[in-house]
Amino acid sequence: MADPRTDRRELGRQLTEWQVHGVVDPAIPGNQGRRGGAGPSDHRALTIEGTTVMVPVYTAVAATSPYQLCRDGQGGVDVEGPGPGPVATAVSVPGEPRFYGLETAEGIPYRSIALLHGRDVLATTLLQTCIRFRDRSQACQFCAIEQSLDDGRTLVRKTPEQVAEVAEAAVRLDGVKQLVLTTGTPASDDRGARMMAETAAAVKQRVALPIQAQCEPPADPAWYRRMRDAGVDSLGMHLEVVEPEVRRRHLPGKSELGLEQYFAAFSDAVAVFGRGQVSTYLLAGLGDSADSLIRCSERLIEVGVYPFVVPFVPIAGTPLEHHPAPATDFMVEVYSAVGDLLRRSDISSEAMAAGCAKCGACSALPLFE
Ligand code: SF4
Repeated sequence: MADPRTDRRELGRQLTEWQVHGVVDPAIPGNQGRRGGAGPSDHRALTIEGTTVMVPVYTAVAATSPYQLCRDGQGGVDVEGPGPGPVATAVSVPGEPRFYGLETAEGIPYRSIALLHGRDVLATTLLQTCIRFRDRSQACQFCAIEQSLDDGRTLVRKTPEQVAEVAEAAVRLDGVKQLVLTTGTPASDDRGARMMAETAAAVKQRVALPIQAQCEPPADPAWYRRMRDAGVDSLGMHLEVVEPEVRRRHLPGKSELGLEQYFAAFSDAVAVFGRGQVSTYLLAGLGDSADSLIRCSERLIEVGVYPFVVPFVPIAGTPLEHHPAPATDFMVEVYSAVGDLLRRSDISSEAMAAGCAKCGACSALPLFE
């Protein structure tokens, strides 16, 4: 009998192949995904064998991918590869969520306030600017946070009331299961924690929705308790890359806070949110060796932090738009080792209350756990 774990890892390899190469998309109808903005972007969601994955479709690399979305003639979608016949059939493309058809009393479209990510995650960037973004000598080189402001697709600042209104509708109309709040970094010592707390409190007053907040480590650790008390269930603080030289090269401003300061912040946050309710992004493919990523993940797991390893996806319009994505074999090597570490630990993507690791659509790591 086939080992289900082997099958999951095979699926994980296939999905990684699509994530690193992207997929040519001849505008198949459905939720079109998003361009620009914070974090992983320029992609749309596909569901295969019950797993939803975000696949780059709007990047330069995706335009020349050997993989392509095709209609199967029966209302479904296949993915075709370089060889004859489809590499995957019965792929579904999540439809446009119903809440996208609504707007606030002032006429602001709900989709300018928050977007559907993956299959059932509502996500918003509370502050769509960042203290570092305008100065490229300080900005994280992969980030496109202000791009979606330029063409009016989103608001600079989403108020707690606006997010709560959209969250209530997204739960009622589209069965959304969790909310991810992220932010560009404001020029305040709390690093966005205050906005997270205020928004979580407003959302929880209207709807019981698990919430992950994502921000840089606040200067005062008291903010972890304040966010938790306001209704934040889990917290993401993102290292992005780990080797000192790679951090300086790609995060010239943000790397002023070193790895050891992040680990001190992780300990403070885990003391409040609990083991496995704090996570961090690790962007693989920007220069860190597999060994560095795996050793850092081991240390993170030891302190109770989920290492959410994702393949770096170059976003159009950023200084790294032509940087190559990592090789599939490199990703599978890291996923396999980190998956083994997670399986032997007391933390897992499934046990997280909310957040990117729980959603898992930007990484195949959960399939390797
Ligand atoms: S993993 Fe995070 S960024 Fe990716 S689709 Fe899910 S919620 Fe959005």
